Amino acid sequence: GTLPDVIREQAKERAGHPALVQTGRQLSYAELDPLMDRIAAALQRDGVRNGDVAAVCATTSIEYGAVYLGTLRAGAAVAPLAPSSTPESLAMMLTDCGAKVFFLDEGVAKLLEPVADKITVKRVALDGSSAGQPFAEWLAPEGAKPEPVEIQPDQGFNIIYSSGTTGAPKGIIQPHRMRWSQIRRGHYNAESVTMISTPLYSNTTLVSFLPTVAQGGTAVLMPKFDADEFLKLSEKHRATHAMLVPVQYRRLMAHPDFDKYDLSSYRLKFATSAPFSAKLKAEVLRRWPGGLIEFYGMTEGGGSCMLAAHEFPNKLHTVGRPLPGHDIRLIGEDGKEVPQGEIGEVVGRSPAMMVGYHNQPEKTKETEWFSPEGLRYIRTGDVGRFDEDGFLTLMDRKKDMIISGGFNIYPSDLEAELAQHPAVLESAVVGVASERWGETPVAFVALKPGQEVAAKDLLEWVNGRLGKTQRLADLKIVESLPRSHIGKVMKRELRDEYQAKAG
Ligand code: ATP
Ligand code: MG
Repeated sequence: GTLPDVIREQAKERAGHPALVQTGRQLSYAELDPLMDRIAAALQRDGVRNGDVAAVCATTSIEYGAVYLGTLRAGAAVAPLAPSSTPESLAMMLTDCGAKVFFLDEGVAKLLEPVADKITVKRVALDGSSAGQPFAEWLAPEGAKPEPVEIQPDQGFNIIYSSGTTGAPKGIIQPHRMRWSQIRRGHYNAESVTMISTPLYSNTTLVSFLPTVAQGGTAVLMPKFDADEFLKLSEKHRATHAMLVPVQYRRLMAHPDFDKYDLSSYRLKFATSAPFSAKLKAEVLRRWPGGLIEFYGMTEGGGSCMLAAHEFPNKLHTVGRPLPGHDIRLIGEDGKEVPQGEIGEVVGRSPAMMVGYHNQPEKTKETEWFSPEGLRYIRTGDVGRFDEDGFLTLMDRKKDMIISGGFNIYPSDLEAELAQHPAVLESAVVGVASERWGETPVAFVALKPGQEVAAKDLLEWVNGRLGKTQRLADLKIVESLPRSHIGKVMKRELRDEYQAKAG
């Protein structure tokens, strides 16, 4: 079957069970299934065929969730775009993905005003605003049924644009086969009540949203993350599952009333997408009932690792072991596998991997690695090491690694040292050009509320603890670190800004 077929089954078996919930509103499976039909039929009426693409750029809502699933029923792939992108980049992605229909809301229409003349595709306003044809009016009439389509495992489910942490966004084609293998991981069931507090357009969210609805569970949608609201909704809906990024865990742990909320309904929390410190994982395990699972992987797929933190309290500094069916190897600069225990670039292969980058065969080739047996792997650009029990420790992204005077410096080592200072909330270390060393590390540090320390003193303190070849050339105290929509530190921005100022 396919995801839309499975939801048709859920509509029969658990008709009245809530599928999508958002403040004050909810949609049961018995309501979701015919709405998906009306969406698919409207897309077909507008000329969308099996294998085409529809794009969505909007804040998370019930309509957004329904459009996601309804589009799949028409056999089209969904290209979810991030409203936090620049107008130029959004116009580029819309053209690149070749969408036949574009779902948006008022906020996005405003954002797109400067490039409006570049966007010719049909618009549908999910929020009923004048951003496009209002959703309710656009829908096919009540009771409408789409022409059935046959979906192949290798056809596109999504085209997701990479977050652009390290370069321009690339359209990643994720086939049905890939999604299906994620849906089947078995962490959710019909009783699951999953908090969706990261945006629906992010891959991080989809790996928890899609399995929840595939199992007939309930997805509680939050248009915007807020620690207070998250805790209130978790208690109110008796949430069992949540997918959060590390910075959200940190905000929740720092919430003054965290321990007053009844979170005993929780079974499993998930984390992914950015480094999650062992210290923070330990605190979450101690204070929040239920298990904690960390995933390591990328939107491109390939190989993913999983750490069930509650089962391996002595492995919290790792991202766990490869998932069943996932093969992960580490390769050196020469493109050959490194011996066990040594550091190398992570490459992975699994049933959950992208077809390639949309319209970018050259870029696709660059990310491929072939084993001596001729099997295709995807290069992650991350550097790591396996311990003797097969758990993977990530050192850093290759692009963030600093080569200074011939030595490899891993920013994460320096960040870990800075974290030992009582006034430091978080830090980011980046390499900047240096005439003498080629590259040299500089740090950006955000302090804990109410704490004070002079940049000069902190620099001296940390350099006194670092190895000779690791020492920082400079340290800046900042209000906060720049982050992407999914909570990743934008090191590229820090580096560019610093170098521009240095002239
Ligand atoms: P771009 O490819 O456009 O630069 P991106 O790589 O940040 O963006 P994603 O596919 O969302 O886009 O992120 C995958 C990357 O996120 C991984 O390669 C890794 O660097 C990081 N990552 C994912 N999970 C974890 C984790 N559990 N711990 C540390 N880092 C992680
Ligand atoms: Mg990437």
